[in-house]
Amino acid sequence: MSDDRGMRILITAGPTREPIDSVRYIGNRSSGAMGAALLRAALGGGHFPTLIAGPLTVAMPTGIRRIDLQTAAEMHAAVLREFPNHDLLIMAAAVADYRPISAPAGKIDRAGKLIIECEATPDIVADAARIRRPDQRIVGFSLESGGNIQRAREKLDRKQLDLIVYNPIETMNSASIRPVLIWRNGREEPLPEQAKSAFAEILVARAVSLFKASN
Ligand code: C5P
Repeated sequence: MSDDRGMRILITAGPTREPIDSVRYIGNRSSGAMGAALLRAALGGGHFPTLIAGPLTVAMPTGIRRIDLQTAAEMHAAVLREFPNHDLLIMAAAVADYRPISAPAGKIDRAGKLIIECEATPDIVADAARIRRPDQRIVGFSLESGGNIQRAREKLDRKQLDLIVYNPIETMNSASIRPVLIWRNGREEPLPEQAKSAFAEILVARAVSLFKASN
């Protein structure tokens, strides 16, 4: 890894869009605000972030290396290509979990009922974990409804992450977040509700210290 002052941090942000036809898509309400806050925190900490972004509705800091894309498949390819050149991956994107199996060119006509058959998208962060070198670290997010923190613990384990940020569904499209950080060794750190900008600084600091700890 490079030293603490100048780590190469790959940050994904925003939603993905999965085409139904040439006009329509399956997407979600993610704005990219958490990713924008993480980029600012990384820049403020003297790090070298790269952004991989789905279609965003918030402004991102300029002057950084930025890769814009639309679909989970494109994000999968970009993350696996870029991760080897980075110390740390922070997977803040709200990747669509399902995509239509086929997306015909043109516009599907309105005629009675429309059934869209979907398949799961590739799990990007899990695949990044499979190609990870021992000197790299991975942080994921787990947006859960109904206070289900156990699902976040399971995702940390299943996707082989170093750290996961549990956050309730109200985080989406909000300026604030009430997160719980969960480490591989079982340590958990609940944090008070705070602005995403303040939390981003904490998360970047915790992510950097993953390189010192033996989690
Ligand atoms: O959607 P899920 O709750 O499983 O997402 C948890 C983490 O996995 C997030 O960091 C998200 O960016 C990532 N993810 C992914 N590829 C997917 C779905 C989610 O990398 N297809």
